Amino acid sequence: MKTVKTVLGEISPEALGFTDIHDHVFKSGGMEVIEDKDFGIESIEKSHQELLKFKAAGGNTMVDMQPLGVGRSINAMKEIVKDTGVNLIAITGFHRSSLYDKAHFVHRYTTDQITDIIVSEVEKGIEVNDFCGPIVQHSDAKPGLIKCGTSYYKITPLERKLMQVVANVSNKTNIPIKTHTHIGTMGVEQAKFFIEQGIKPNKICIGHLDRNADLVYHQQVLSKGVYVQYDCVARVKYHPLIDTMNLIKELSAMGYADRIMIGGDWGRSSYLQAYGGEPGFEFIPKYLPDLMRQYGIGEDIIQKIFIDNPKEFLPY
Ligand SMILES: [Zn+2]
Repeated sequence: MKTVKTVLGEISPEALGFTDIHDHVFKSGGMEVIEDKDFGIESIEKSHQELLKFKAAGGNTMVDMQPLGVGRSINAMKEIVKDTGVNLIAITGFHRSSLYDKAHFVHRYTTDQITDIIVSEVEKGIEVNDFCGPIVQHSDAKPGLIKCGTSYYKITPLERKLMQVVANVSNKTNIPIKTHTHIGTMGVEQAKFFIEQGIKPNKICIGHLDRNADLVYHQQVLSKGVYVQYDCVARVKYHPLIDTMNLIKELSAMGYADRIMIGGDWGRSSYLQAYGGEPGFEFIPKYLPDLMRQYGIGEDIIQKIFIDNPKEFLPY
C-alpha cells in the first residue's frame, strides 16, 4: 500500500488533511544562510511554537522543502514536530546550483554515485548530517519527496546533472518530485525533462510557479499533466494576492483545479511569529480559505488544493 513518509513514520494518505505543500521549519548553515542571515530558522523551541499555531489554525500537514546540504536537519525536525499533532514531511534532493560550494560532493561525485547516495536515503532513512562527514548514519525518517532546482531562465550543468539524479531516484523508488523554479522560470523545461525520463506527470510538481504569474505560461506547464505549486499568497514584493487568485479561478475554469497546490514557503525567520516576524505558519490555514471565498473561488476548489491534491500527489 502507498503511504506518506513523515519524519515520525509512515501514515495513510487519509491522515493528511489540510496541507501546506511547501514550507520550512528549520534551516541552519549552508550557503543560503551564509548569504543572508534572515534565511536561518534555527530555534527548535520557536519552530515548535510556530507549528503549534499552524495546528491551532486548522493546519494538519506541512512539507519542509529544505533539501540536502543547505541547512537541513532531520534530528531538529523530529524534535520540532514532537507533540504538535502535525504531520511533518522532510525531503531529499537538491536546491539550485549556486547554493553548493565547490567543495560539496555534488560537484565531485558522478551522477551514478550521487544516485546511489540518494537512493540510500529513500530506502534506509535521511542521513543525520546530510552526508557531510565520513560517518554515515541513517535516521529512521524517510523522505516524502525529492527536490531539484534550476536558476533564473537557465539550467546550469550541475543542475542538469542533479535533475538526472532525481529522475533516476524517482524511477527506482517512485518517490514524487517537486522542483524549485527561480522566479517561476524553466517550468516547462523541467516538466519536459522528467516526462522524457519516464516519470509519470502525476508524480511531478513544478514549484514557485506563481512568482511568474502568467496565465498562458501556466497553461503551457499544466498541459503536460504535472502539478503546480503556488506560494505568493502574502508576498506583495512578487505581486498582489489577486494575481494568484485569478490564476486559480481561470485555470480551474479550464479544468486544472486538480493540479494546483499551495504552500507558504515562509523560509525566513522574519516571516515567523515565534521569531518576532509576520505572518507566520498560521496565515494559510487561518486566513487563506476565507480570502479565496472572497475572491470567488468555490468550496470544491479549496478542498482540492489543500486536501485532495496533496492526498493524490504525496503517497508512494
Ligand atoms: Zn522554500
